[in-house]
Amino acid sequence: MIPASVNVVAIDGPAGAGKSTIARELSRVLKLPYLDTGAMYRGITCAALRLGIDVHDVDAVAKLASTTILEITDDALVVDGVDATSDIRGDSVTRAVSAVAANSIVRSELRERQRKWVAIRGGGVVEGRDIATVVFPDARLKVFLTASPFVRAQRRVAQMGGDVSQIEHDIAERDHKDSTRSDSPLRESENAIVVDTSNRTIDDVVNEIAIAFHG
Ligand code: C5P
Repeated sequence: MIPASVNVVAIDGPAGAGKSTIARELSRVLKLPYLDTGAMYRGITCAALRLGIDVHDVDAVAKLASTTILEITDDALVVDGVDATSDIRGDSVTRAVSAVAANSIVRSELRERQRKWVAIRGGGVVEGRDIATVVFPDARLKVFLTASPFVRAQRRVAQMGGDVSQIEHDIAERDHKDSTRSDSPLRESENAIVVDTSNRTIDDVVNEIAIAFHG
């Protein structure tokens, strides 16, 4: 049997590097389904906040991850039957998500769900922080997207509003937590192509990745 990950494009990178925009467009161009794994970590965080569970309580959050039902589509996330599409992008989830993502039991639970999701569909464009390094180390193509901290903050402000320097600070803090945690930290995979999206159009970046995929 051909492993499903043969047809995986793994896209990793820090917050605001353009992963979601590029991955969505790439999924359309390559006709592969799209999976936003960050939305899954955000979904567990949302479930914890709804129930008043402290996101630093490792055992309680681990238990919650094993029972929380996440229904993911291209543009929505339903958590335990309740729509959470906009809540997961709010400030409280964004501030708490790195603590949930540092929980090894949560990671192992979500990793398994991600692999199953791809196996059922026979492939996908999968974005996150540890996709090339841990979840799909044998992905057909591995991409590490970056952009300058200022450009990343400007993009977030354009999407969500707010103050550029405050958001630049918040992004740097989240990246630091994501890159220094002990379990599957954000880092470039050895054989990933590294693409700096700072001064490039979406089409240009998508083209480069699509050519590398077919190459
Ligand atoms: O991609 P997004 O910014 O929505 O991800 C939210 C958070 O989820 C990240 O800051 C990170 O803590 C966590 N995450 C992760 N591993 C992934 C995807 C996201 O740890 N594969």
